[in-house]
Amino acid sequence: MSPHIELVRSKLPEHVYFFDTTMRDGEQTPEVSFTLDEKLKIAQQFDTLGIDIIEAGMPVVSKGDFEACKQISHLGLKAQVIGLARLNKKDIDDVVAADMNAIHVFIATSDLHLRDKLKMTREQVIAKITEMVAYAKSHFNVVEFSAEDATRTDLDFLIKANLTAVQAGATRINIPDTVGTTTPKAFGYVVSKNREALPKDVKICVHCHNDFGLAVANSLAGIENGAEVVHTTFLGIGERAGNASFEQVATALYALYGAKTSIKYKELYKTSKLIERFSNIKIPVQFPLIGKNAFRHESGIHAHAVIQNPRTYEPLTPELIGYPRSDELADIVAQSITIGKHTGSHSLKAKLDELGVTCTQEQFTDIFERLKALGDKRKKIGDIDLITIANDVTGRLAQQDKTVILDELTVLTGSVTPTATAKIRVRLDDGWEQRIDSSIGVGPVDAAVKAILKTFKEIGKIELMEYEIEAVTGGTDALGVTTIKIKDENGIVVSGNAAHEDIVMSSVQAVMNALNKLMKMRKKTNGTAHDTAEAKPSI
Ligand code: MN
Repeated sequence: MSPHIELVRSKLPEHVYFFDTTMRDGEQTPEVSFTLDEKLKIAQQFDTLGIDIIEAGMPVVSKGDFEACKQISHLGLKAQVIGLARLNKKDIDDVVAADMNAIHVFIATSDLHLRDKLKMTREQVIAKITEMVAYAKSHFNVVEFSAEDATRTDLDFLIKANLTAVQAGATRINIPDTVGTTTPKAFGYVVSKNREALPKDVKICVHCHNDFGLAVANSLAGIENGAEVVHTTFLGIGERAGNASFEQVATALYALYGAKTSIKYKELYKTSKLIERFSNIKIPVQFPLIGKNAFRHESGIHAHAVIQNPRTYEPLTPELIGYPRSDELADIVAQSITIGKHTGSHSLKAKLDELGVTCTQEQFTDIFERLKALGDKRKKIGDIDLITIANDVTGRLAQQDKTVILDELTVLTGSVTPTATAKIRVRLDDGWEQRIDSSIGVGPVDAAVKAILKTFKEIGKIELMEYEIEAVTGGTDALGVTTIKIKDENGIVVSGNAAHEDIVMSSVQAVMNALNKLMKMRKKTNGTAHDTAEAKPSI
């Protein structure tokens, strides 16, 4: 918590209440439509989470909406289940018929809406509020009134409309920034002016839209200026650019302001994932608090510090909101640390320990370099890539046991005859000898393998028994893992594997690994034939 937050904390209400409109405004998101069964599950989860008021829908809209509102009202939740209605009898009667706990009524008040939408005068609007809020009040104890487009309404007229609603029986006054056109300071002013004018026992609510990305900031400004109830949606879904995100408002209130709420924060992430699933709206990776990257650290400096103390680069403990520290991609010291080109050696060491990889210092350096090289080519490197690289490096013969090393390989492929040139080093009794040769082949892999075998004559006649390549992850940039099995003229069979992002290199490295193993086997067996002698694959 910032020490300067004390400046605004004193202005906060004793308790902040959450009015969730995911199933009403959230469902007005293009292409989002919850089934009845989903709505029941959502309502139950909201109740577990501690949402105070659930706007289940607008019963007049459709039979489906009506049925969902009714069934949610019958769940026996602790939360207040509220239904939306325009200021007319039919809309209000439907909320009554749906057995809802409370009603939320609205009418537009801005001159723009009066002139071009409602075609009503201000006087007519005031008369309508008086008549219909009273009608709603005759059925419900709790009546919330919204002056639609409040932030573009003349402030004096807005206060007049709100006071009229209160006089007619409204118990809560909502101030919606319907088109998302206000700013924190301006909105704070509007809320404070209403707070001054309205009776103390009437709670003020805020409902902010995110057209300029200010929904959360505006909501918080409203709360700093007298609002006690905040309208939010999960994932910030809603009309156009959406509404204020529950995740952000609720967690900011708790973690930054230290506000008192009824929210069980541990249920937060789970609830967001439920909405993600039912709405089919993927949570963006960078979405605050719940996005995949919200608690991931790629920079070596950050990751190293987080291992020492998560607070160094984490604004709050992810467990607080039920965010799982581990995911399938990366997880060290319970922190999700992504491996990429900015990964430092501390992170990598911790990661390898976690994955159970043991390696020599030389191998560690090799893995580190391979990782950086891969990180230069692509952004995302998962656990499986790291394991593959580590296995590749640790599975190879140590340098001193190698008989043959590939120094260079050039492959020409495309709409030409595939041609490869290999430059290799062969260990002889009196030291290394460099050789170079070329070959054509039916494809780049065939040409490359033939070129290597041509230069490495000592190996004699080799038969390729098996050749298999598979991508360890999806995508065209996946690491290709090649597994081969070769047999020499004495009948010795060895396997070789290798992983590389370039499939020709992956294949060639697999052949090189197999050749080196074969030479080692031959030394051991003094070149005698062993039909079943197969070197154990090292991975
Ligand atoms: Mn709205």
